[in-house]
Amino acid sequence: MELLTLVRTLQSRVDKTKKLIFTLNRESGPTTIEVGVIDKNDGKYILCVPTQTNCAQACRFCHTTRMAEKVAVSNLTAEEIIAIVRESWAIARFADSSRPILVSFMGAGEPMVNTRNMLLAMAHLYGWGVSSGFNIRFGLATMLPERYAEAFQLFAYAIRFLKLPVKVHLSLHYPTTAQRREWMPASATVHESLALLKEYREQTGNPIEIHYTLIAGVNDSISQIHHLGSLAAHSYGGHPESIPVKFLHLNPLPGDTHHGSSPEWVEILQHHLLCGWNVQSEYYISPGADIAASCGMFMTDAYIPSKPGNVQIEPATPANDMALQLHDTACRTGSWPVSEGIQ
Ligand code: SF4
Repeated sequence: MELLTLVRTLQSRVDKTKKLIFTLNRESGPTTIEVGVIDKNDGKYILCVPTQTNCAQACRFCHTTRMAEKVAVSNLTAEEIIAIVRESWAIARFADSSRPILVSFMGAGEPMVNTRNMLLAMAHLYGWGVSSGFNIRFGLATMLPERYAEAFQLFAYAIRFLKLPVKVHLSLHYPTTAQRREWMPASATVHESLALLKEYREQTGNPIEIHYTLIAGVNDSISQIHHLGSLAAHSYGGHPESIPVKFLHLNPLPGDTHHGSSPEWVEILQHHLLCGWNVQSEYYISPGADIAASCGMFMTDAYIPSKPGNVQIEPATPANDMALQLHDTACRTGSWPVSEGIQ
């Protein structure tokens, strides 16, 4: 039996993003995983891949948390990660082979819980890419769970040893430990997370970044962004530069009343970071939101079988693409339907 079966491909109607939905054929039973194929016309291609079948870190704003009771969490093996990347790569058929390809471990799962398998897969894929003439590099987003400091330090050591191009994005999202733990209960303290991030930069020379999803009225006040600036601005280990910040647009959970900050307000916050702290920032509205292929949106209900073990997801056809229609409706109206029973 093949390790991986493509079940469905969804194409965004607003940008070039595709979502690939696979069944992972395991001895323990089939499970669903998802991959985002992203082309933002910025000179590179992105494959957004998972490190786990779901995530157990229970962040309040993340779709995977809602799926915790429906989709079991397990680490992907190195062999599975390699198969997922290579199969997605083959399906994507990137038109311009001279463009860099970013394998981004920002799909479902917390990478630091599965560092060994992710590292093995990275080393294999990097060697394969180089020998095939591809410019391949990696990115990952980690919230740095408490008790995983040592795993992260070992990861940094291995990246330095293997000389792999891996950008690390710290999913910070809140400027104080108290608020961060209210929303991301499994996270390390803000101080420890930033210290580990800087240490990674010093060890490997690879780029780092802070991710901060702006939620109106929750973490987007001037004083909170002032605090964020103070965290990002300080130089470290001989590096005079501050840590760049990527503000992310919130993709709200179905039924959630929270919403992202307005673009006008984001502009003011960016100005504040730059003028007050000389911290560079960008505002990222991630592509593929209409097909739930965007930040924090993987593993939504619509594509997950409601009965464990039953993965009879119907192939996508124009006449019978209910999940896509539901997502379209949700995007237009802002109300996300319950998609129980869609398989
Ligand atoms: S935001 Fe990341 S770490 Fe948190 S639950 Fe979602 S996938 Fe896991």
